[in-house]
Amino acid sequence: MLACYDLASARKTLTAQALAGRPRGLWRWSELLPVRDPAFRLTLGEGDTALVKTGQLGQALGMNALYVKDESSNPTGSFKARGLALAVSRALELGVREFVIPTAGNAGGALAAYAARARARAHVYMPADAPLPNQVEVRLFGAELHLVDGLISEAARQAGEAARAHGWFDVSTFKEPYRCEGKKTMGLELAEAFEWSLPDVIIYPTGGGTGLVGMWKAFSELEQMGLIGAQRPRLVSVQAAGCAPVVRAFEQNSDRAQFWEGAQTIASGLRVPGVFADRLILRALRQSQGIALSVTDEEIVQAQRELASQEGIFAAPEGAATLAALYHLLDRGWLDRQERVVLFNTGSGLKYL
Ligand SMILES: *Cc1c(COP(=O)(O)O)cnc(C)c1O
Repeated sequence: MLACYDLASARKTLTAQALAGRPRGLWRWSELLPVRDPAFRLTLGEGDTALVKTGQLGQALGMNALYVKDESSNPTGSFKARGLALAVSRALELGVREFVIPTAGNAGGALAAYAARARARAHVYMPADAPLPNQVEVRLFGAELHLVDGLISEAARQAGEAARAHGWFDVSTFKEPYRCEGKKTMGLELAEAFEWSLPDVIIYPTGGGTGLVGMWKAFSELEQMGLIGAQRPRLVSVQAAGCAPVVRAFEQNSDRAQFWEGAQTIASGLRVPGVFADRLILRALRQSQGIALSVTDEEIVQAQRELASQEGIFAAPEGAATLAALYHLLDRGWLDRQERVVLFNTGSGLKYL
């Protein structure tokens, strides 16, 4: 289920000029967001993250338009804040007071933060081996943390059971439509940053795929509103070699991703063996003439060192995976060094210590 808007009325007030004058943050795009009453719009300062043009790294690769969209400055240190700010706000507007979420780590922290802000209750189901900072933040925000013996798929099973038993609202990826709307704002911000055009290539680390699907939706809405033209970036989905269900499905020309057995990677946000929105992700990749590829944990660690030492960005392993993927794409000749390429650093490396 995805949210729809009256774009004909939205375009009357959501103009490039109006946007530029509004306070920073993702609520600038309120005509394209689901919360109607401004009183319900929670904010901790999410969105409007930096689009950093690379220096040494781009130069060494012969690329003069290589960017990092750095999501690490979001509240709770990852882009999960965008999705949960929206989902919690809209759910509150609809009368929800108690939430439950399965998470690889960051989504649970983000839910717990916005629930604290809203004085609502949150229950978080997380693998027991998720990064310690994720566990600590959930408890500190006052949410109830359930550590699960297994992966996010097992956490999802337990969270779903608890949701049914207690009547809690389940904010699992794509089981409600609004986290995707929050992630969509990354695409809106890119369009504005590129002066109402779009980059040529977006490289995105994919777990549940909310960002890919959300950005693809954002571009279509912007075009219908006359803010951008028909040109689209090629979307690149990056997964870890130890858990790559989307890559496997893409390579097999399938529109469904099969469950990945024995998932393992240091990039905990990519350790998502069962992909609920597989069809939406694969469709966006193909429509954009994009590609899916995986990188090893060793490549991720190496790329993390390079982003840190050459660009001053301490990326999450998921974010570093996009640089590792860029090297492969250059080797294969899949992209041209003159193209405008955006890597998504989806979170802060500090959350993995
Ligand atoms: C959740 C997460 C991802 C995957 O995001 P999706 O939109 O679910 O594909 C990537 N990076 C980090 C840091 C995450 O927390």
